[in-house]
Amino acid sequence: MVSFRFRSSFLVRTYLVLVSSLLFGATTFAAESPNRPNLVVFLIDDFGWQDTSVSFFAEQTPQNRHFRTPNMERLARQGVKFRQAYACCVCSPTRSSILTGYNAARHGITNWILHPDKETSAKTPHLAAPVNWRRGGIQPGEITLPGLLRERYGYRTIHVGKAHWGAHGTPGSEPMNLGFDVNIAGHAAGSPGHYHGEKNYGNKEKGGLTEPWGVPGLEKYHGTDVHLSDALTLEAIAAVEQSVAEQTPFFLYFAHYAVHTPIQSHPRFMSHYQGQNFPGTNIPIDPIEARYASLVEGIDASLGDVLQALDRLDVARNTIVVFLSDNGGLSRHARGTSANGGKANTHNIPLREGKGSAYEGGTRIPFLCSWAQPAPEEPQQAALPIAQAAVQDLPIIVEDLFPSLLHWASAGTANPPLPRDGRDITPLLTHHVDAQAVREFQQRPLVFHYPHHWNGGVEGGYQPHSSIRVGDAKAIYFYENRRWELYDLANDLSEQHDLAEQHPAQLQQLATQLQILLHDRNAQWPYDFVQHEDEPLRLP
Ligand code: CA
Repeated sequence: MVSFRFRSSFLVRTYLVLVSSLLFGATTFAAESPNRPNLVVFLIDDFGWQDTSVSFFAEQTPQNRHFRTPNMERLARQGVKFRQAYACCVCSPTRSSILTGYNAARHGITNWILHPDKETSAKTPHLAAPVNWRRGGIQPGEITLPGLLRERYGYRTIHVGKAHWGAHGTPGSEPMNLGFDVNIAGHAAGSPGHYHGEKNYGNKEKGGLTEPWGVPGLEKYHGTDVHLSDALTLEAIAAVEQSVAEQTPFFLYFAHYAVHTPIQSHPRFMSHYQGQNFPGTNIPIDPIEARYASLVEGIDASLGDVLQALDRLDVARNTIVVFLSDNGGLSRHARGTSANGGKANTHNIPLREGKGSAYEGGTRIPFLCSWAQPAPEEPQQAALPIAQAAVQDLPIIVEDLFPSLLHWASAGTANPPLPRDGRDITPLLTHHVDAQAVREFQQRPLVFHYPHHWNGGVEGGYQPHSSIRVGDAKAIYFYENRRWELYDLANDLSEQHDLAEQHPAQLQQLATQLQILLHDRNAQWPYDFVQHEDEPLRLP
């Protein structure tokens, strides 16, 4: 076998940055500003595929009946619901893919970040994290989605909420160094110190930031009863109001800290869950799940408030909203009994496991795309039609946002292509998708690369892995035991029947394709600290 040992990924990345700069960096296209749509990315943290009253499965589930998300229901009615959308299995890799358009294997931020010089990954009996994964996260100089929207198309770029791109103490921890004009409450941390205003969002009682977890920049709400999700919503709407007043198209990247741990209440919504049973069952909703559901309802209310503000400001017909999560729902620890009646690994059923796992529960996310107010007769919407109440089952992945948003922002003007891993999902936004687009999206390989151990024991999909999905087939490689698994997602969504022994030729083909794609993207391998060498992916 040919030995691939790329250690020049930094050089490759630098080259790509230089090439991209030559392509468009010196020119600003913002001068001619046709009627560009406003863009809203509404990103929820650790929000599971079943954490909503919107069904992303073939039928309503007990978890769907438990959660109250009327504003997500509204978006699903007026737009496209993607039932097979994917992210990475933890936070920072997904967020970095949104920002750069690169797959995690290529951008190299393969695990969640915190400090530039400290490891966040756990170890397995043999394996540690790759030696040189990008612990520092994204740093200034990288071409980013907000930077392009601003420089090319004249957008005002607004960051609200959780950033989690650059490590603590580095320039990349500040979103304004990564292409945003405004930063409200974003920094290195991937979790809030506290959700409650009474607790100053995790900061010191007498003022001053508590690092690294205290949420920065919301001092005016300290000591009040304003929940973090509500404070962020008020600030996001104020930032949008300013853009509308300035008649500048805006990109609002609204990334809630919720529903990430600590699972603390959103008091406005607790009465809907506290002391109740899960609907249609005799299973009591335990205090953790009551608090969790209140956080979920809080972010849905936030979505409603943003949609209402867009209406009030008369920009809803000119604004596209994308709603998604950054990884699968937390289910391995810290959760209570689910509506399915179990604890760990039952919150995403019918999907297997949850955040941090190689299985679908780790990576499959809710994803909705809609005009904030459909008006198909409006010229702008006629030029970019988004079907209403549509269901899309072609698979997409989070790096697709990068080319898609650039396409929408271009409003028909020249849009020089960029070499990125994501694909423009615009052809999937209609009721009748063009046959060629169907073929392309069906045959496109989706690559997942998590050469880390998240936490806890090595169990099931919670261990270093890479995987590939092509059509309905998914092959997973586990580095610790050099083990391959193969699933048919069309007939086995819950990944209960490993077909690796039954279909060796199909597995070989997928494994080879995955190996080639990982080498092409300069993927970094887990480090075997027993043998003192990298542990690359090995074919079956
Ligand atoms: Ca997350």
